[in-house]
Amino acid sequence: MEITKTQNSRLSSVDFDNLEFGRKFSDHMIDVTFKNGSWQEPQITPYAPISFHPSMHALHYGQAVFEGMKAYYVDDETINLFRLDDHHERISNSSERMCIPSMEKEIFIDTLEALIRLDHKWVPKTKGHALYIRPFVFASEEYIAARAAKEYRYMVITSPVAAYYKEGFNPVSLTTTDNYVRAVKGGTGEAKAAGNYGGSFLPAQKAQAEGYTQVLWLDAKENKYVEEVGTMNIFFKINGKLVTPELGGTVLPGITRRSVIAQAKAWDVDVEERRISIDEVFDAHKDGSLEEIFGSGTAAVISPVGLIHHKGDTIELDRDNIGPFAKKMYDTITGIQYGELNDPFNWVHPVKVG
Ligand SMILES: *Cc1c(COP(=O)(O)O)cnc(C)c1O
Repeated sequence: MEITKTQNSRLSSVDFDNLEFGRKFSDHMIDVTFKNGSWQEPQITPYAPISFHPSMHALHYGQAVFEGMKAYYVDDETINLFRLDDHHERISNSSERMCIPSMEKEIFIDTLEALIRLDHKWVPKTKGHALYIRPFVFASEEYIAARAAKEYRYMVITSPVAAYYKEGFNPVSLTTTDNYVRAVKGGTGEAKAAGNYGGSFLPAQKAQAEGYTQVLWLDAKENKYVEEVGTMNIFFKINGKLVTPELGGTVLPGITRRSVIAQAKAWDVDVEERRISIDEVFDAHKDGSLEEIFGSGTAAVISPVGLIHHKGDTIELDRDNIGPFAKKMYDTITGIQYGELNDPFNWVHPVKVG
C-alpha cells in the first residue's frame, strides 16, 4: 500500500456542531485500480477530484456498486468499525451481480484500517455522531461497448456525520405506490448497485410531494407483500413477535437488519422472516396486535415509522415517539458500536489510532 499524506489538512474548517450528511469529506481517500486482470497496489492519497474520459464506462452503463458503514469514536486511542466481514461479503456479492471483480478481504480491511488511522481526528466525538464510510467500485474503462468493462476503480471516501435524529426520534411516514417498483426477482434489487437508487428518486419525490417521507415498497408481481423502504429494511412488532420480510432476491440484505434479528433472538423474542402482506399489517393495526413499526439501516440505525398510507387507507401509530422495543434495540446496537456495551456477537472491529 502506498500512502501519500496531505500537506494541508482541512480538518480545522469543519464545524462539528453543524454537520450536514455527505457534504464534507475527510483529508484522505483509498484508490485502487483494476487492470490487466488484477487489482493493483492500493493507494491512499489526499482527497481530491479525479479525472476521467467522457467515455468512461460507468457513466454510460451504470456498472457500479457501493457500501455504507460508519466509524465510531470510543476514546482517543480507539475507533470502532462494525461488522467488516459482512460489509466485505456484501460488496463482493453486489460486485458479482454487476460483473465487477471482487476485492480481497485482506485488502478491503487493511486499507480501511490505514485510512481510519490517518483520518481518525475526523471521527466526531459526540455520541451518535460518526464518520460515514463510503466504499464504491465503478467501471473506469475508456470504452462504450455494452459489455462488462475490463478496468475498474475501487475507492473509499469518508464524511463526518451527525446523529440522524438530533432532537429525539422523529417517526417517518410511508406510502405505497401503484405505479412503480423497486426490484424484481432476478433483477439487481439485492445488490447495493448505484442504479437501483437512480430509479427510485422519481417515486420518492412523488411520495414527498404528497407529504410522505418515503415509499414503502411492495413486491413487483402482486403489489401486495411488503419489501422495504428506500434506504432501510422494515420490521413489524405484532403480538410480541418481530416480523420482517424475507430476503428472497428483491430485498437488500441490510447489515443492521441482520443485527436486529440476532439481537432480538438473543432476547428470546420470536423472529419471523417471511412474506407479510400490506393487508396483514393493516389488519393487525385494526385488531390492536400491531405494536411497533421501525426501519433499520446504517444511517439512522433504527427509524420509527409513525404512519403508513396504502390505497387511500392510513394507519397511524404514535407520531411523536419511538416504541419501547425499537428504543431498546437502538440503545443496544449503538451501545455496542460505541464500545459502551459488551459485544457478545463479535461485531465490533476496533482500530488502534493512539
Ligand atoms: C444499504 C441499504 C439498506 C440498509 O442496509 P444496512 O447494511 O443496514 O445499512 C436497506 N435498503 C437498501 C435499498 C439499501 O441500499
